[in-house]
Amino acid sequence: MHYLKHLSLFLLLSLFVGCTIAPNLPQGDNEGATSALYERSFDANVPNIALLNLFFTQMPKGGDLHHHYSGSIYVETYLEWVKNKHWYIDSCTFKIVPIKNNDGCKALSVDELIANDTLYRKLLTLWSDKDFSNHSHEQLPPDSNFFNTFGYFSPISDQYMDVGLNIIKERAINENVSYIESMLSRVGLSSSEFFNSDEIKMFNNELRNASTQEEVNALLERISIVYEHSPAFNAKVQNFVKELERRHQGIDTETFTMRYQTYAIRVVEPLQVYTDLLAGYKAVQSTPLLVGVNIVAPENNTIAINDYTLHMRMFNYLMTKYPNIHRTLHAGELTLGMVEPKELLFHISQARNIAGAERIGHGVDVMYEKEPLLLLEALKKYAAIEINLTSNEFILGVKESEHPYSIYATYGVPIVISTDDSGVSRANLSHEYVLLASRYHPSYKTIKTYVYNSIDYSFLAPAEKTKIRAQLDKKFEVFEKEMSLLAKRLN
Ligand SMILES: [Zn+2]
Repeated sequence: MHYLKHLSLFLLLSLFVGCTIAPNLPQGDNEGATSALYERSFDANVPNIALLNLFFTQMPKGGDLHHHYSGSIYVETYLEWVKNKHWYIDSCTFKIVPIKNNDGCKALSVDELIANDTLYRKLLTLWSDKDFSNHSHEQLPPDSNFFNTFGYFSPISDQYMDVGLNIIKERAINENVSYIESMLSRVGLSSSEFFNSDEIKMFNNELRNASTQEEVNALLERISIVYEHSPAFNAKVQNFVKELERRHQGIDTETFTMRYQTYAIRVVEPLQVYTDLLAGYKAVQSTPLLVGVNIVAPENNTIAINDYTLHMRMFNYLMTKYPNIHRTLHAGELTLGMVEPKELLFHISQARNIAGAERIGHGVDVMYEKEPLLLLEALKKYAAIEINLTSNEFILGVKESEHPYSIYATYGVPIVISTDDSGVSRANLSHEYVLLASRYHPSYKTIKTYVYNSIDYSFLAPAEKTKIRAQLDKKFEVFEKEMSLLAKRLN
C-alpha cells in the first residue's frame, strides 16, 4: 500500500519536473541519496521549505509522544459535532450553548454561524490559533488565546471521542505516523465526592504547609486510605477504564497503534490534584491501553507556580507506591518575563529528580535552571525531552536560536519531536520536522535517530516497541528508495 502511495507521488513529481518515468527503482545507497536530497534543501541562503514539506510529509515519523487529544482536533470537526447535537453558538461569546436562548445575544446554529463569514472567522481565532499573527485584530496575549481555546470546545470535545480518535488515526496514517501516545483526559473524580468541605480545607492547608517529602507522604497516606477503601472510588476508576476500552475498539491495526495517558490538572487545589493522580495511577494499573500519567495546564498559573514542589512530591510518593507506572511531566514550559526569575531555577530538575519523570514535556527554560550542567547530565541518563516547536513559539514566544533545542542536541539528551496541540495550532507532525530542519539543520541521520527515539522512549511494552521498530526499518527503506529516485529526477 505504502509503496503504491509513494510511487504515485513519484509519478506526479515526474510530471511536475517534466521527466519520463524510470521503469525500475534504483539500487545502491538510498540512505546516502536521501541524505543528499535533504541537504539540497539548504543549497540556497534560505532553506527550500517546499522541498522540506514534501520530504517530511513522506518521511516515516514513528510516534507522536506529546499529543493532547482535545487540542489535536480541528475546529471544523468540533463544529460538525455541535451541529450533530443540534447545539448552538452564542454570537457574542462564541461559546457553545446546548439550548437556544435568545435572552441576550442571538444563539446561532452552526450553519447560520458559518454563513456569516465575519463571525465564522472570529470563531476560528478564538477556538484555535488561526490568524493570530497574520492580520491585525483585537486579541488576547498568545498564551491566554491558546489555553482559552480549550474552554470553547471542551463542552463538545469528549462527546464523540470514538469518532475523534479515528480522525486522529487517519491523519496520522496519512502523514506516515505509526504510533500516538495521547493525553486523553482526567479520570474525572472529584475530591468533594469523598470528603466534606472541612476535610477538604484541612487537607489543602496541611498539604500546602508540609515542608518535607516525609510530611507530604504522611498526608497522602491518610488521603489514600480513604480512597483505597471506597468502593465508589474504585468503581469510578473502572468505569473510566471500560469507557476507554470501548472507545478504543477498532483503533489499532497491524501498522498503527494508539495508547493513552491520563493526567492531573495543575491549576486546582492540592487535594484535587492528588485525587486526579491517584485515580490516574489506578486506571493505568488496570489496562494496557493507558501507559502513563502526566500533569497539564498552564505552568505559569498562580496555583501551579505556588504548588509546584508539592505536585512533584505527590509524584515522588506515587513513584514509590507504583514504581512500574510511567510518568512524563510538562515541565519548564516557561520563559523569562513570564514569571519571576526564581521560578525558572528548578522546575525541570524537580520534575526529573523529585518526580522521577522519564520524559520532560517542553523543557524550554533549561538555560535558566540553577544547575544546568547537572540537570543536562541527569536528563541524558534518565529522561527524554519532548520538543514542541510550534507550541513553544506561539505560547512562549521562544523560537529559532532562543530555543534550547541545540543545547539538548549537543549535550546528547535524547530528543523526540512532537506536536502538543496540532488542532489548536492548525499544524501537524510533519510541520514540526520542517521547523526543526529549517531552523537547526540537523543531519538526516540525526533526524532518523529522533524518529526511532519516538518509539524507544515511548511507554509501549518492549515487544510492541520491537514490532514498530522493525516496521519503521521497512518504511525507511521504501521512503529512501523514493527519495533517491526523486533526487535523480531533480538533478
Ligand atoms: Zn502539552
